[in-house]
Amino acid sequence: MRIDVLTIFPDLVSGFADASLLGKARRDGVLDIRVHDLRSVTTDPHQSVDDAPYGGGAGMVLKPEPIVETIEAVDPPRPILYCSPAGRRFDQSWAHELAATDGFTLLCGRYEGVDERVREHVIDGELSIGDYVLAGGEVAAMTVMEAVGRLVPGMLGNLDSTVEESFGAAGLLEYPHYTRPVDYRGWGVPEVLRSGDHGKVDRWRHAQALLRTIRHRPDLIEARGGLDATDEKVLAEFGLRQEWDDAATSTASRGGKGDRSL
Ligand code: SAM
Repeated sequence: MRIDVLTIFPDLVSGFADASLLGKARRDGVLDIRVHDLRSVTTDPHQSVDDAPYGGGAGMVLKPEPIVETIEAVDPPRPILYCSPAGRRFDQSWAHELAATDGFTLLCGRYEGVDERVREHVIDGELSIGDYVLAGGEVAAMTVMEAVGRLVPGMLGNLDSTVEESFGAAGLLEYPHYTRPVDYRGWGVPEVLRSGDHGKVDRWRHAQALLRTIRHRPDLIEARGGLDATDEKVLAEFGLRQEWDDAATSTASRGGKGDRSL
């Protein structure tokens, strides 16, 4: 898969793409990440990429020429997605969609953003990583690269981990994890996880995922249509039905919102 990034801070993105999981995938030839400096196509002595807005107002605007000319020079993979707070909200299902393609391009804005003609004539879509305003699109691009990159076959040793994790196939948040020591400061590990009964462990994890999701993201439970027969069975098996009802009641008292208190 090829991912191109267009930015005025190429070192920031390249450094990230060279480290950790993405760096290994790059070296293994699984991911072809190409970072393009928008300044490299400029011809003026100051390598200007921005200018003052027509109509006045605070801040500068990224000029269209460096963006268009970079795209013409490198012919990056489509779609070209402009990282923007006005974009479609990036989520795990969009990450899966992008991971199934041959590639895509991320355009990073800075200052007040890009000249509107780039949005109208050049890009294919806009992507937001959340309802807040960053100083530039690079952090958004890095977020997308990492979320998509880890879903590309060959990136993770065990692809099952992307099926079972939060927002995976079950539409739930992930169950809790424990590792050694078995007792740390009197905080124990649930007995079931040490039972060696893999079926029981799976069922317990499913029950825990349900509880975690109703507590923190009740909208996900609603989206999957509440509890099905398997859900009911695992909650009953581990005596968690009352806990579920309590969590559902307190969710209702918060107007259907999850418990996000720290
Ligand atoms: N003036 C713009 C507005 O009010 O929508 C904000 C511009 S922001 C300071 C500069 C750049 O950061 C944007 O062009 C975009 O590329 C990036 N950016 C900011 N917030 C973002 C978000 N939530 N998701 C993706 N990119 C974002």
